[in-house]
Amino acid sequence: MMKVNIAEVRNGNGKDIPFRFSVEAEDIGAVLEHAELKDIVVQGSVVATGAAYRVSGRITCRKDFICDRCLTPSVAEQVCEFSEEYCGTADGAEDDSINCFDGDVIDITDMIRDTLLAAQPLSNICKSDCKGLCPVCGANRNERECGCDSFVPDPRLAALQQFKNLK
Ligand SMILES: [Zn+2]
Ligand SMILES: [Zn+2]
Repeated sequence: MMKVNIAEVRNGNGKDIPFRFSVEAEDIGAVLEHAELKDIVVQGSVVATGAAYRVSGRITCRKDFICDRCLTPSVAEQVCEFSEEYCGTADGAEDDSINCFDGDVIDITDMIRDTLLAAQPLSNICKSDCKGLCPVCGANRNERECGCDSFVPDPRLAALQQFKNLK
């Protein structure tokens, strides 16, 4: 759990409260299906903005995954930024407002998890120009050129070709 006590800046004395958390993916519910997030570090600060508190900073982590194209185990460093406003019920916020907190403590766990999950790409690729596996012999084409003829004809063109041949 990542909690920041804002009592110190409640009266808007212009200071900000820095924070740094080191967490496990399982502890914050950031578990992915085909990859693992490790070394998650959350760093930032809270500033009183008058009626609310702005929580901002960055998340850094390491992602272990299997490349979707060449099936090689790979690692990527990730950095994502966050900036959210929180309102305290003690400062008059409605209980049902989105980023609402009770007392002096803001729990940023859910926001951090959502930010981290939203930052994940739809596919995990080891490098942008990954050549993938040969559909014919299964060789990793990043490592060697197998020389197979992997040309797959477009079925629509093939049908047209047949039609032409009939005439
Ligand atoms: Zn790859
Ligand atoms: Zn091949």
